[in-house]
Formats: sequence, structure tokens, C-alpha cells
Amino acid sequence: MKKEQRNSAWGLATQAIRTGHRRTAEGEHSEPIFATSSFVFGSAAEAAARFSGDDPGNIYSRFTNPTVACFEQRLAAMEGGEACVATASGMSAILATCMGLLRTGDHILSSRSIFGSTTMLFNKYLSRFGIETSYAPSGNPEEWARSMRPETRVLFLETPSNPLTEVADIGALADLAHANGCLLVVDNCFCTPALQLPLALGADIVIHSATKYLDGQGRCLGGAVVGSAEQVGEEIYGVLRTGGATMSPFNAWVFLKGLETLQLRMRAHSQNAQALANWLESLPAVERVHYPGLESHPQHDLAARQQKAAGGICSFEIKGGQAAAWKLIDSLELLSITANLGDTKTTITHPASTTHGRLTPEEKAAAGIGDGLLRIAVGLEDFSDIQADLAQAFGKV
Ligand SMILES: *Cc1c(COP(=O)(O)O)cnc(C)c1O
Repeated sequence: MKKEQRNSAWGLATQAIRTGHRRTAEGEHSEPIFATSSFVFGSAAEAAARFSGDDPGNIYSRFTNPTVACFEQRLAAMEGGEACVATASGMSAILATCMGLLRTGDHILSSRSIFGSTTMLFNKYLSRFGIETSYAPSGNPEEWARSMRPETRVLFLETPSNPLTEVADIGALADLAHANGCLLVVDNCFCTPALQLPLALGADIVIHSATKYLDGQGRCLGGAVVGSAEQVGEEIYGVLRTGGATMSPFNAWVFLKGLETLQLRMRAHSQNAQALANWLESLPAVERVHYPGLESHPQHDLAARQQKAAGGICSFEIKGGQAAAWKLIDSLELLSITANLGDTKTTITHPASTTHGRLTPEEKAAAGIGDGLLRIAVGLEDFSDIQADLAQAFGKV
């Protein structure tokens, strides 16, 4: 059996392709799927040593599984973290992080425009256990500082935000967190380690919905948490192995194969999205385009410092409100009408009536979700085909 290949000096692409695989006696080249719920011990004494923790080997796949461990080690290496735990979905990654780090009476300070289910988790469910959440706008560190409370324990951030692609200064918010004895948790779903490394910028914990770009082809649900050996490897892992929202070996295999092409895909998503944003900005039917790669974006310089590219998500406001937005969507032939993102296939969604449909008119206005706003998660089709489909649809509005 060959030793696992691992080298912390490797670049990101090499980490994504090589880290974590311990080749078995069969000499397989591609990583195997260990489809087994439990593991066999050589003797009663070995079983006892596994359960006591003296022998770190596998016991049961809710605790550890070699395929899942391969994905975890690979993503940890890419994000530059000591430890990674894989979870059943992005939401279970956020839930396990909160359960691992917070107690009754603690306060979360979060960026305002975050994933809808995350808002629901914070406001409806964590509040039942005496954990309160308040919100601050991504682009305004002074307001974050003013919103800190003595009981604040976690700062939670998505950057760029969904759907308006507001960019938050990770380094500034990490300094604020640490000056107040708090942790900065960053949901790195939109950028992935291929474009942004929150831990290197000062964040303590990175969260992923692997469902999106890590898979990249819209097949499986999964998530991950990356950070220190103590917080992630002990506290959050402890919640998961007990609570059970772990990743299946098959899904781990899909994601770890996805990681191998992540850097190439994120570069291509960003190229297509930049071309789309440039073109949309030139159209008279378009009021405004939101994309960090545009010079008109309010945090264009910050995004250029913090990210390797501007990412695959672009949103824009069409003139004519909801009627025009829906007409455009319904006239499309190639683009898919779905709220998912991070797929090779380009998707379009109308946030005001879908992902943000439950907000009151006042909440929508505060979050900047207008009736004419459309979000495109730009895929990897030929840009000319994406553009041609949108152009013919604009012609029908
Ligand atoms: C999709 C998403 C999540 C939740 O992930 P699931 O895998 O759907 O549970 C969390 N954060 C962001 C930014 C997302 O886009």
C-alpha cells in the first residue's frame, strides 16, 4: 500500500487533484467509494482500542469514512485550514457550526443579505434556544462595529452576497471579531477556494454548500466546515458524529472529483459572467447591473484585492418591473428557470417572487430586491449562445 500523497507546498490545483487519497492494495488510480456503514476489527483488543480512541482507525461511517475523509482533507488543504468536516448539506454545515460554537445567551451578528434558509435557521430556530441574531449591511464595517454586543460570539458573513453581489471586507471584519473575542465565520459558497481564501484573510471558519460549485454539475447535496483542529476538528465534528448530519460516501466522491476541476471551472464561470455583465451594462432595457467585476460596482477595488476573479453570479434590474422580468424569463429557450446556482448550466431566477418571495415589501426594499431584479448564475455553455438566448428574449419584452 502506498503512502498518502500530501505536500503543503503544492499549489491549489495540485492540492485539488492529489491530496487525501490513500491508495489501497488494489492500486486504484481514481479514488474509490467506500460504500460501507461499518468497519471490521482484527480482534477484540483492536475493537476496544478503536472505541477508546487509542487506535484512530474507522469504526462506523457516521464517525469516519475513507471517501469522506479524502474529500475533507482535500478541501482543508485548498482552504488552508487544519481540519474539515463534511456534512449532509450546506445548511447542516451551518447548523453544526452554530451548535458547536454557541450557547444559550450568545448573539450572532450577520451580514444582512444571506441565504434565505440561513436567515430562517437564525431567526426561527436558534432563537428558540436563546441565541439571538441581528444584521448589518455587508459593505459597512462601521455599522458592524456599532452592532457588536457584549454577548456577541460569532460574526457571520456571505461575500459576495446573494443576489446583489455586495462585497464585504473579510480582513476588516476579522479584526473587529478578534478585537471583541469573537469568531468570524464566512460562507464561501459563491467564490470557493479557487477565487477566495477567507482563512488567509483572517476568518476563523469557512462554510460551504458543496451542492453548488464544489459539485459544479448540480447532482448532489452536501456541505463542509473548515477551520482549526480545535473548533472544527473537535467541537463541530463532535456535534456531527453525534447529531448524524454527515455526508454519504457517494456524495463525497462526487464532490472530491468536482474539486479536481474547480479552479478551471471557476475561471471559466467568471469569464462568462464578466462578458455577460459587460454586455448587459450596454443594453438600454437594463437599469443596472450588479457584478463585482464591473468598474461601476461600489466595491470593485475590494473585490479585486480579495478575490482572484469576480465569480459566476451576476444580477441586473430590467426596466418595466416584474412584468418585464417574467416576460424575459418566459421567453428564454436555453437558460434554465431554477433557483439553484453553481451548475455548468446557466440558470436564471426572479428573486422578488422566489428566493426572497416571503419578505415583506419593506424588507425587500431594505434588502434592495426590486421587482425588476433578475439573477443569473452563469454556466459554462458558449458565451455566444447564452448571449443569443438573452438577446432574443429581450427582443420579446
Ligand atoms: C445553497 C446555499 C446554502 C445552503 O446549502 P444547501 O446545500 O442547499 O443546504 C448556504 N449558503 C449559500 C450561500 C448557498 O447558496
